Amino acid sequence: MGLPKRLKELEDRVAALEAKPAAVAGPACPICQAPMRTTAVTADPTFGDMGLQQHSLACTRCAHAETRQVDPNKAA
Ligand SMILES: [Zn+2]
Repeated sequence: MGLPKRLKELEDRVAALEAKPAAVAGPACPICQAPMRTTAVTADPTFGDMGLQQHSLACTRCAHAETRQVDPNKAA
């Protein structure tokens, strides 16, 4: 009773929740604003001893790629 409607509401909510992390997960591409995905994580050549990492990022839409210095201890 009323279940199909409730299910649709939940599906919409799940879709909205799934869309958000994807947008926040990676930084936006400076060229086309599409989310970038991390393709490789290595220790920073200079500050690796301090726990810093280098993340290789590739745009999911265009060919843009870049490397960023990331401090995993400074989450958010
Ligand atoms: Zn791009």
